[in-house]
Amino acid sequence: MTPSDKALVPFVSVDHMMQLVHHIGVADMLRGLADYIAHDFARWEQFDKTPRVASHSAEGVIELMPTSDGENYGFKYVNGHPKNTADGLQTVTAFGLLADVDTGYPVLLTEMTMLTALRTAATSALVARTLAPRGATTMAMIGNGAQSEFQSLAMQAIAGITHVRLYDIDAAATAKCAANLAGTGLHVTACTSAQEAIEGAQILTTCTADKAYATILTDNMVGAGVHINAIGGDCPGKTEIAPGILTRGDIFVEYPPQTRIEGDIQQLPEDHPVTEIWQVMTGAAKGRTSDRQITIFDSVGFAIEDFSALRYVRDSIAGSRFYHPLDLLADPDDPRDLFGMLQRAG
Ligand code: NAD
Repeated sequence: MTPSDKALVPFVSVDHMMQLVHHIGVADMLRGLADYIAHDFARWEQFDKTPRVASHSAEGVIELMPTSDGENYGFKYVNGHPKNTADGLQTVTAFGLLADVDTGYPVLLTEMTMLTALRTAATSALVARTLAPRGATTMAMIGNGAQSEFQSLAMQAIAGITHVRLYDIDAAATAKCAANLAGTGLHVTACTSAQEAIEGAQILTTCTADKAYATILTDNMVGAGVHINAIGGDCPGKTEIAPGILTRGDIFVEYPPQTRIEGDIQQLPEDHPVTEIWQVMTGAAKGRTSDRQITIFDSVGFAIEDFSALRYVRDSIAGSRFYHPLDLLADPDDPRDLFGMLQRAG
């Protein structure tokens, strides 16, 4: 028995996602994702919003991230397990789904481990383009794991970064990142401490994984006028930035009810002022107001960014060879004869 076309859901495997990225080109895909994210941030108020639903365990977290704009509904399943790399597994893996609100039928099921790295990097660079000091050319990239090349390439493609200074507590991770970035046009410097990595950098990206109140940037390390792109503090009990830096700088977030639980600002009082980044992008709130200001993007990753990424993939694969039609939905000819469909299959 063959399922009807309307019940077949486009499924993008990891292999197809990688082919799609190569077909579009990494830089163009990062720019395309940033455009979709910017479009959705501009209509932020249309979305259903909720902090993600998190299930915590001793070693990690499993999260569901839903949202809807009234026309489409999307969600991502994502984990965060810092100990995984020691066992040869990813810290972060993900898959996601986009559905038509009108019928409730899914219109896309896709891998999102690659896509999360791309969308996180596109968001970081979009925000850096908005908040970083004018003429920024150099980024410190602290934490050289799975996200790091994506972060570096997005900053190059979207925020004008030409130099990246790498540091990781594991020198092998830095060597891997430097080798992967060879030939991209970025000038790459491998450093042996976080202090060395931030020398001369206008953008400081922290993208480490440790289920702890870590201090990747201490108060005395950070001077005036930089932009901090804090990626790795994204879970209760998991932070990267010293509270003294947070109180000296101006903090920009995705969705405050989620960031107050998960972001670096979990270290600050509940009422510490933060600015929602979508408001800066729409002109409703101020971003950088002086050369000496420290701006901090306390990134945790929000459902609307995944929704944008799902929309981008749905639009990019239409009419292409980059998906399989998946027999995911039981769809009998007579909609009320589900049992008859089962019986005939016997
Ligand atoms: P990963 O495990 O592949 O890499 C993390 C790297 O950090 C490792 O190489 C590790 O050696 C290094 N590290 C750990 N402690 C360090 C320290 N004190 N100083 C320097 N380096 C240190 O993880 P990943 O997939 O690259 O993710 C990095 C972090 O980003 C994770 O915490 C993840 O949860 C988070 N993340 C956030 C978002 C978001 O939207 N904000 C999206 C994806 C991932």
